[in-house]
Amino acid sequence: MSAVPVEQFDELQAYAAATAACTRCRLAQGRTQVVFGAGNPDADLMFVGEAPGFHEDRNGVPFVGQAGKLLDGLLAGVGLARDDIYIANVLKCRPPGNRDPQADEIESCEPHLFRQIELIQPKVIATLGNFATKLLSGRPLGITRVHGQEQELTIAGRSVVLYPLYHPAAALYTPAMLKVLEADFARLPAILGAEESAPAPVVELVPEPAVAAPAEQLGLF
Ligand code: URA
Repeated sequence: MSAVPVEQFDELQAYAAATAACTRCRLAQGRTQVVFGAGNPDADLMFVGEAPGFHEDRNGVPFVGQAGKLLDGLLAGVGLARDDIYIANVLKCRPPGNRDPQADEIESCEPHLFRQIELIQPKVIATLGNFATKLLSGRPLGITRVHGQEQELTIAGRSVVLYPLYHPAAALYTPAMLKVLEADFARLPAILGAEESAPAPVVELVPEPAVAAPAEQLGLF
């Protein structure tokens, strides 16, 4: 786990409390509550989904419906539990009828996600589906093209590995996609491990002279 100081946990909690009253976009009108995020605030691995659905809106916790159950199974398959990771969504409030997030809603909600990332300081962010992947990669490439391809990026001012995955809700009904999602998930421990054992930053060394200086030169100093 990364060493996040206690003040940063407090700040995350304070930020969540402040976000509970958010009215930055129209989704505030139809929600039961803001679904800020859940899990270990000191996690090295953070998942970012799309938006709360019916069950998340009722419970205030991300990924508690069918897609969440699949996610739990995928996590267990690689030896992880909810307490090991942090999960949030691009949108913190449920879009009516679970429709796609709209561009202005994403823009309004974006500061919340970036602040979360800044406070949690994950080493790896696994984006679930198109919306999270496009937002955090800053590129328009769809998930079918980029799933399973990790890339090092600077997000919220820190270097982080972005690892795009299919959204579990999409994989629920498409067995071929589920197989791909399972295979991509299976690589998560190695990606995390690589980050944990990443070599210390290279310190620039002053090159040693290849051959010892002649004795008479040494006398000059
Ligand atoms: N789908 C998401 O993207 N997020 C949730 O929290 C639940 C379902």
